Amino acid sequence: MIKVDFNRPITVGNEFEYMRQAMQNVHISGDGAFTKKCHAFLESELGVNKALLTTSCTHALEMSAILLDIKPGDEVIIPDFTFVSTVNAFVLRGAKPVFVDVHPDTLNLDESKLESVITPRTKAIVPVHYAGVGCEMDVIMEIANRHKIAVVEDNAHGLFGKYKGKYLGTFGALATQSFHETKNFSCGEGGALLINDPFLAERAEIIREKGTNRSRFFRGQVDKYTWVDIGSSYLPSDLLAAFLFAQFEQREKIQSHRKNVWNMYNAALKGWAEKNGVQLPVVPEDREQAYHMFYMLLPNLDLRQKLIMYLRERDIYSVFHYLPLHLSDMGQSFGYQAGDCSVTERVSDQLIRLPFYNDLSSADQEQVIDAITEFNF
Ligand SMILES: *Cc1c(COP(=O)(O)O)cnc(C)c1O
Repeated sequence: MIKVDFNRPITVGNEFEYMRQAMQNVHISGDGAFTKKCHAFLESELGVNKALLTTSCTHALEMSAILLDIKPGDEVIIPDFTFVSTVNAFVLRGAKPVFVDVHPDTLNLDESKLESVITPRTKAIVPVHYAGVGCEMDVIMEIANRHKIAVVEDNAHGLFGKYKGKYLGTFGALATQSFHETKNFSCGEGGALLINDPFLAERAEIIREKGTNRSRFFRGQVDKYTWVDIGSSYLPSDLLAAFLFAQFEQREKIQSHRKNVWNMYNAALKGWAEKNGVQLPVVPEDREQAYHMFYMLLPNLDLRQKLIMYLRERDIYSVFHYLPLHLSDMGQSFGYQAGDCSVTERVSDQLIRLPFYNDLSSADQEQVIDAITEFNF
């Protein structure tokens, strides 16, 4: 048997050639030729007003919190079932996180619980399109607009996924992408901020460039650049943009392979899952998923742990993730306790993610599927 990793970074096209070209351009700091190509690609493919590469999705979320002027005492609504960065970026500015439970089928923020947690201090709602399956955006946007609350989509999983025919990341005032090693498109560590609200675009450039108006200077709009706002260094090296652009060029290849992997898991595990009370991912009819991951919900924690160990003995690496944020040390420090988000508490015990990456072979995948369907409950 061969070892099957959980994730594996690969090159799919011109990554190294473009990094060499970046060197030849004598420009490997931020905002070089390849960064501009990445911006243009994201803007034209998604139809967003402006895209800015960042050093990570975490940093794009931090920029969002600065752009929305989040201040101590403000409240930000976040799904309980997500990565730490979704919440930490806002807590860093002094916000109080308001955790909302998720739907038991899509594991996305339960929009029916939003109205009851909105207060005059609510400044933002941050839906996460879990596994690249869109949240119920019509309802979320209607509630947010009615209360004049900004929406920041954490779209780390959802690049090229759609909700009712419209790309994820194009609904909120802002949206964030991740190009971390584990995501569909990667440059190791990287991200992007998508800016749909044109009023936020100029300030976003300033915050990303250490609080200076350097971008305007380079465009010849001001004759010197200076310190005009708070900010930090959120722009990635053009070497990373070169690597990433080569992956963007292979969009069709990457996404169609991931679609095949997902469909094969789903088809091959359906019968076994039904027989054993295992829940497979749910993708509502009006959504096109981004094929970010394949997860399953086992009947309970004990069986989930047994399956992970059983696979590991066969050299197959699967993982679980997202502990309920409200029960973390930080979550409890905000006054949350057990029982506050019962769906998240349950699914975080049950969830397992299967090996999934851009060159997972069908032979390796069959090995995973065979092992699972032979697993004794
Ligand atoms: C990966 C991920 C992030 C963080 O991305 P980085 O680029 O590593 O900062 C944020 N939110 C979600 C939902 C993620 O999956």
